[in-house]
Amino acid sequence: MRKHRIAAIPGDGIGKEVVAAGVEALTALAALDGGFELEFEHFDWGSDYYKRTGLMMPADGLEKLKPFDAIYFGSVGAPDLPDHITLWGLRLAICQPFDQYANVRPTRILAGIDSPLRNAGVGDLDWVIVRENTEGEYAGQGGRSHRGHPEEVATEVAIFTRAGVRRIMRFAFRTAQARPRKFLTVVTKSNAQRNGLVMWDEIAAEVAKEFPDVTWDKMLVDAMTVRMTMKPRSLDTIVATNLHADILSDLAAALAGSMGIAPTANLNPERQFPSMFEPIHGSAFDITGMGIANPIGTFWSGQMMLEHLGEQAAADRLMRAIETVAANKTLHTPDLGGNARTVDVTAGLIAAL
Ligand code: ATP
Repeated sequence: MRKHRIAAIPGDGIGKEVVAAGVEALTALAALDGGFELEFEHFDWGSDYYKRTGLMMPADGLEKLKPFDAIYFGSVGAPDLPDHITLWGLRLAICQPFDQYANVRPTRILAGIDSPLRNAGVGDLDWVIVRENTEGEYAGQGGRSHRGHPEEVATEVAIFTRAGVRRIMRFAFRTAQARPRKFLTVVTKSNAQRNGLVMWDEIAAEVAKEFPDVTWDKMLVDAMTVRMTMKPRSLDTIVATNLHADILSDLAAALAGSMGIAPTANLNPERQFPSMFEPIHGSAFDITGMGIANPIGTFWSGQMMLEHLGEQAAADRLMRAIETVAANKTLHTPDLGGNARTVDVTAGLIAAL
């Protein structure tokens, strides 16, 4: 029997509710499949842990995570702690040292889910957004001087390296190549950001030569928001910088119907370190503890995790079950306009499996 060891880090807010649902669903799936076993170990890291210890995760947290085959993550953030502490203390503290440089976000309109795009339906929106996940605008370079004084100054330096851009570009071209349309859109803002992003454009053109069967085009990020909204079918695979893709993927999730559905994978494609799988939404304090968090994004993240672990048949089975649940309006949580609760969706998913 194949065995995969998973570190579950539910984190904060609804992260705890959706990861519990995800672990239940994946455990049921493994039992039904019979060919593999998932061994979950839970880590109670996050904002509550910070309030007890002054750290979001223990000093040897990365050492503890390293032996796992994958990390199943919920969300991070608390109303009474600054976001930069919670984000840098846990999520980014894992992504960067584990060199999870490719952040992959599939977006589709699932049957049964209404898209805010007028007249848009299933198939109109079937994208994969590839986000550079280690450098760029979120490299963490910069500083503040003369705090509180009128002359206070702050810098936030975006870092683009040839090695970093080339590896994400190759990953994006490979991702596009593996999809039926073999079509990649490279997003930049190279008219205004004339150093780092001009280098992006140059490296995209170089890497494109290695993938003669992939068609590609370029967009400025501002125009990209219009194209995503007005001509969703004209896009397939998309690659953008850390900041740009962060924004575009929230737009993509909203266009697909709900923040609660969209999954993401933080991949270390060379598999030197575990990769991390999570829904794209945050802690959602407004609904925390109410039992109505939509677990579909977490199920779908689990589907991406199974693909990464080589369990393709189980991943396909899970995706079909997610589609069945999405198509059933009695299993829609309030964010999708329904009355279902997290436990109902989870039971519905397991029944569909
Ligand atoms: P962040 O940590 O990114 O600041 P957040 O908690 O402010 O996150 P988002 O995750 O961006 O919020 O979500 C915005 C809103 O969308 C939430 O406040 C919540 O109402 C709704 N939402 C997000 N995810 C879900 C979900 N899984 N189920 C139901 N509603 C959700």
